[in-house]
Amino acid sequence: MKIPLVNVAKNFESIKEELNLAIQEVIRKGNFILGEEVRLFEREFAEFCEAEACIGVNSGTDALHLVLRAMGIGEGDIVIVPAFTFIATAEAVWMTGAIPFFVDIDEETYTLSPSLLEKLLEERWREGCDRITGKKFKGVIPVHLYGHPCNMEEIVRIARKYRLLIIEDCAQAHGARVFLNGKWRRVGSIGEAGCFSFFPAKNLGAIGDGGAVVTSNKEIAEKVHLLRNHGRIEKYEHIIKGFNSRLDTIQAAVLRVKLKYLDGWNEKRREIAKRYIKNLSGLKGIKINLPKEWAEPVYHLFVIETERREKLVEELSRRGISTGIHYPSPLHLTPSFRDLKYSKGDFPVSERCAERVLSLPLYPELSDEEVDEICRIIKGFLTGSS
Ligand SMILES: *Cc1c(COP(=O)(O)O)cnc(C)c1O
Repeated sequence: MKIPLVNVAKNFESIKEELNLAIQEVIRKGNFILGEEVRLFEREFAEFCEAEACIGVNSGTDALHLVLRAMGIGEGDIVIVPAFTFIATAEAVWMTGAIPFFVDIDEETYTLSPSLLEKLLEERWREGCDRITGKKFKGVIPVHLYGHPCNMEEIVRIARKYRLLIIEDCAQAHGARVFLNGKWRRVGSIGEAGCFSFFPAKNLGAIGDGGAVVTSNKEIAEKVHLLRNHGRIEKYEHIIKGFNSRLDTIQAAVLRVKLKYLDGWNEKRREIAKRYIKNLSGLKGIKINLPKEWAEPVYHLFVIETERREKLVEELSRRGISTGIHYPSPLHLTPSFRDLKYSKGDFPVSERCAERVLSLPLYPELSDEEVDEICRIIKGFLTGSS
């Protein structure tokens, strides 16, 4: 038996005809840059996210970068970021000239800890600035890691209190919902803006790079719109300095086809996660986080924790089962951010997760039998009978 961690090809295979037609149509029209499919996808994805506007861009990293710039964030500013996420969350802050300030995560959701966020601000915030460096606290990027939403009720409360902008990193959480003020809300529609990646392996994946910003703030939407296309309103009429960060028409056409299936695929992911949880719960030697009652996660990844990770990876791999580690290093100990001068011990939960987390195979086409087989091997390993 061979089971990959993700199976992008199998997913495309399931809707091959529809995708080919959509791609052929773009080729026939020859409108490869900002063709009408981009506008149509933007409208459909904004509606899906329950936001007013969507702007398609080059990647999830660019979505974060451009929206931070659109909010006027740059040199002399601080943006708070969880210490445990994909590197792009912090890189986007650095791309604007601002400084990423790390906060540890909550061990039950793997997302930004509201109580530690509040503690940091209580200790360091003075009249909008950091009392030590004098830099301005401007924003916070909650990351809905692995597809589980952050505790947005608390994060919104703290951000309002300290006048921080909220930029949701939804790169792993397309379609996830969180219960807020008596209503289920899609992630991306809660903060000032939400940023999405359409990297092929994400829950909504393109056939190359792609990303989007969603927002209900008109000014932010207009600014991102300009920034993604050389700051221009008309051909050769450039009113601000911008970038080339457009979503390709072909990618938009593919994403339009796939968006119709997304809620169904996410439901499959939740069912698979439930099966993993049922099979593996109560076993000594692993920890599995259950979803919070205020969250409807979309399981971009199914993650367990174990102190015997290396050996378990070996055993699974020997049986043909691929796994992943998301992520082996917390951001504050990643060499590229060593200039920020954090040290080991600063964010213990992130550090422990980096040592213990293990992602098991998960994609909508994974069968019950495959899940059961993976669980059997894990059980055997943990109980010493394999
Ligand atoms: C994938 C990802 C990104 C970056 O998206 P790209 O499209 O690869 O640039 C940002 N943040 C998180 C949490 C991600 O998983």
